[in-house]
Amino acid sequence: MIKELIHNDEEFLAKPAEPATAEDAQVAQDLLDTMKARENCACLAANQIGSTKAVIAFCDEKDRVVVMFNPRVKAGMRPYRVEESCLSLDEPHTVTRYFTIRVAYEELVDGALVARTRRYEDFVAQAIQHAIDHCNGRLV
Ligand SMILES: [Zn+2]
Repeated sequence: MIKELIHNDEEFLAKPAEPATAEDAQVAQDLLDTMKARENCACLAANQIGSTKAVIAFCDEKDRVVVMFNPRVKAGMRPYRVEESCLSLDEPHTVTRYFTIRVAYEELVDGALVARTRRYEDFVAQAIQHAIDHCNGRLV
């Protein structure tokens, strides 16, 4: 289901997300639907659509929408400073991101969560870091 984005509600967005489970498949589906309904949407975290679970979606380098459960940055290389805007905030902010990251996450496969690790770089890595910050209650 396509959801409205939470906007300028810093109290809700500042709450760290709860661990997601295989029961949260609907949250993942809502994130997918909401991402696909928007143009120029690099990433979304579940709290931006009103869920408290640690689920994110982002566009990968081939423009496919990828969903991750409980993502964590395990390693980051080549930090840089960049100005970032957020769909949930009005003003852009300058943040430190890593050009290359290794992400540990879980993927829903046939109704069960499966642990994965993947390496991303450049703007896809940036989108993932932004969305993981949302899961940690951190706003840019
Ligand atoms: Zn954001």
